[in-house]
Amino acid sequence: MDRKKVLITRDLPGDAIKFLEADCDLLCAPSKDEMPRARLLELIPEADALICLLSEKIDKEVISKAPKLKVISNYAVGYNNIDVEFATKSGIYVTNTPDVLTEATADLAWALLLCTARRIVEGDSLVRQNQFTGWAPDLLLGLDVSCKTLGIVGLGRIGLAVARRASGFGMKVVYWSKKRKEDLEEKYNLEYETLDDLLELADFVSLNVALTEETHHLIGQREFSLMKKSAILINTARGQVVDEAALVEALKSGQIRAAGLDVYENEPQVHPGLLGLENVVLAPHVGSGTIDTRAKMAEMVVLDVLTALKGHKPINAIN
Ligand code: NAP
Repeated sequence: MDRKKVLITRDLPGDAIKFLEADCDLLCAPSKDEMPRARLLELIPEADALICLLSEKIDKEVISKAPKLKVISNYAVGYNNIDVEFATKSGIYVTNTPDVLTEATADLAWALLLCTARRIVEGDSLVRQNQFTGWAPDLLLGLDVSCKTLGIVGLGRIGLAVARRASGFGMKVVYWSKKRKEDLEEKYNLEYETLDDLLELADFVSLNVALTEETHHLIGQREFSLMKKSAILINTARGQVVDEAALVEALKSGQIRAAGLDVYENEPQVHPGLLGLENVVLAPHVGSGTIDTRAKMAEMVVLDVLTALKGHKPINAIN
């Protein structure tokens, strides 16, 4: 194949980029820092392929400046940052990284769930501040997780992986999703509920929906008012699924007990109201952030780029 030009907006973990360089030229050396949008717009006209991150908006402006572009390969499973409709009209494949990050992201959802229920971050800070004066009957009492009800909002790959882990805790699992999945209900002992019923029933609510126009602010003031006062919200999906200002109010007023968050409405900004609250655990969008998973994701985007540049449909094309 002729040597094609690939634009990679950020250096990626693992050796996949070296593999890509055997066949293609990189339009710039992959950097450890974020690529400014102006630089992306400057380089994109020369690119045959683009490897980008979920934090970069690949919209009409970018795509219409890219006459040679064959593929946009997103280093993430969510692709709400890309104008897929316009890319499709422009004859450009869009790819993502499904499956390889499912287990790591489900693990992180559970890490947040256990951390919030058992107040691990508060305890860690108490010990570090030399305020641990000995075992006490009422020290940092948390919530039981075992035998409680877990509500999964969005039963896709990650939602199901979060649900599967609950069986080890003897939990009842209810779910709501766009489509009801009777085959999975039987296989994994899941019960389908409406979203409102799920919010009323669940002790822990895990958000696992894709971000779309329909799921933007899916959880807001009205939904918090349906939840139990003892409920804990876990969000490893996308920040915009939750009305963050309403979440701050719900946490402050005791409408819900706690939240574990990996994603934020205006990343990397975090609502200032969240920062002062003890009943929220804040992770910096690291759901897929394990050494193995991030390396596999890099292999996937590179393989999809090479496939598209050879004129074939990439394995993970979503259009
Ligand atoms: P997936 O398999 O495509 O699952 C997405 C789920 O969203 C599907 O179950 C789908 O429901 C549901 N959904 C979409 N639109 C909906 C609507 N209007 N109403 C109700 N449900 C709706 O994707 P996945 O691999 O599980 O990933 C899920 C999301 O997690 C990604 O889109 C991404 O934003 C996020 N994520 C975050 C991290 C992180 O680092 N925190 C890592 C990976 C992924 P149906 O199946 O019923 O159609």
